Amino acid sequence: MEEYLLRQRDYLLSISRAMTARLDLPSLLQLIIESTVEMLRGEAGLIALQARDGEFHIRASYGLPARTPQLFAPLLTNIPLQHARWPVPDLYRRLRSVAASAGIHLRQVVGRPLTLDDKLIGVIYVFRTRDSAFSADDRLVLSSFADQAAIAVRNASLYQQLAEEKLRMDAIIENSADGVLILDARCRIQTINRALAEITGWVPEQARGQPCRRVIALQNAQGMNVCETGCPLQTFSSDDKLQVEGDIVRRDGHRTSVSITYSPLYDDQGTLVNIIGSVHDVTRYREAEEMKSMFISVISHELKTPVALIKGYASTLRREDAHWDPATVLESLAIIEEESDRLHRLIDNLLEASRIQAGTLKLKLDDVSIPKLAAKTVERFRVQATQHDLQLDFPPDFPPILADEERLQEVFSNLISNAIKYSPDGGTIRVGGRALHDYVELFVSDKGLGIPLDKQPSLFEPFYRVDSSLGRRTQGVGLGLFLCKAIVEGHGGQIWVESASGQGSTFHFTLPL
Ligand code: ADP
Repeated sequence: MEEYLLRQRDYLLSISRAMTARLDLPSLLQLIIESTVEMLRGEAGLIALQARDGEFHIRASYGLPARTPQLFAPLLTNIPLQHARWPVPDLYRRLRSVAASAGIHLRQVVGRPLTLDDKLIGVIYVFRTRDSAFSADDRLVLSSFADQAAIAVRNASLYQQLAEEKLRMDAIIENSADGVLILDARCRIQTINRALAEITGWVPEQARGQPCRRVIALQNAQGMNVCETGCPLQTFSSDDKLQVEGDIVRRDGHRTSVSITYSPLYDDQGTLVNIIGSVHDVTRYREAEEMKSMFISVISHELKTPVALIKGYASTLRREDAHWDPATVLESLAIIEEESDRLHRLIDNLLEASRIQAGTLKLKLDDVSIPKLAAKTVERFRVQATQHDLQLDFPPDFPPILADEERLQEVFSNLISNAIKYSPDGGTIRVGGRALHDYVELFVSDKGLGIPLDKQPSLFEPFYRVDSSLGRRTQGVGLGLFLCKAIVEGHGGQIWVESASGQGSTFHFTLPL
């Protein structure tokens, strides 16, 4: 008996050792069934577990032919939750039916339900092919092995749940549109996700283990940057969240404005284990903010100037104590009219720009003769451009095109007015075009200031103005070229500029035929 108990202890020990060493369920169940069969001096055995659909499936067996799992079905139904409620005659009736159909000499059987938290999860059987019956001790031993099997199942399923959970978390972090970084307590990078790799230009594998201030080097930082100041992290209190804003500049010069929120993660003992940083790209938001404030300052300036002039001239004319000669009256009224026109144009442009940004610009298409339209527009400008020589340059057979005439006139007006404005010393301004295979290409060229190459990419953005002393003195809000681009693109064409500082500029645009 003593030797029996010793052997039982050895088997149980080796099972629990195996349980801590490996977590894959099949090999553990196999170890348990083999040990149980040997311990009970049986010849065969099986462990079946209940699947989600409630059916029992054999998950490990020993000494049984592998080809016939379904033959054991009688032993895999109606299993009682409690072993005490399992009448022996019933068990033997089932055994006989299995033995007969499987053609194996199974004479003796002992079985135990496997339970976890009072729930049935499976069953374990040991069989003998000889006639000696299982003893009370055998039954007792089987109980301890059944308990081990139940714990193994629980551990393995917890492990599997954890592994699935981790996979899910990893996928969420990796695919998050926001940048995510996980730091250890010494502010070294454990993980950065794809979005942050893109923002910082660091490959995740190379970032791992780096001090986070190398990877998240913020320029113009505002707020508490954990990466710079936070480590060692006594400064965190348990429900702290720290926020910092600034720019991340990649090695290739690409700049992203970000807002980072750091949150600490503590273990049960209150020791800091990780710091999670969530990195939000606020570039668009920042640009929109800048544009809004520029918009407000530009617009208020541009609106104020004509209103002040109109008011000034009107109140001067109204003075009861003064008598104005007709020439002065006419001149003043002309200025009032001009300034009102300017206000009108500005308001129109603003409305148009907001329509374009809202995507509701509609074109009224009709046959348009571009040379005629250009000539008409040039005529209007001749009066004010006394220093400039305005020339037209179209071939006689220029084809008519389908376009919105009023809007195209706006494009010519804006380009010609710019050509005049930005060539203060006069010079030739040419307006012309030629027809190509399936589109026409038009141009407006001047011999004025020109535009430095590095400023050209921004020219067509709303409210963009090249900063120059002349630019500051000339009227404009930086909407003209934005509107031109929207109108040309609305027609399916393209617009671009060829220019260099001091060399004059040529604006080209195409319209499909
Ligand atoms: P605005 O003329 O109202 O400032 P635009 O959108 O028409 O706005 O033009 C944007 C900027 O592009 C101008 O401020 C000017 O600096 C530059 N620009 C436009 N046309 C010319 C040109 N023909 N020559 C030189 N600079 C130009």
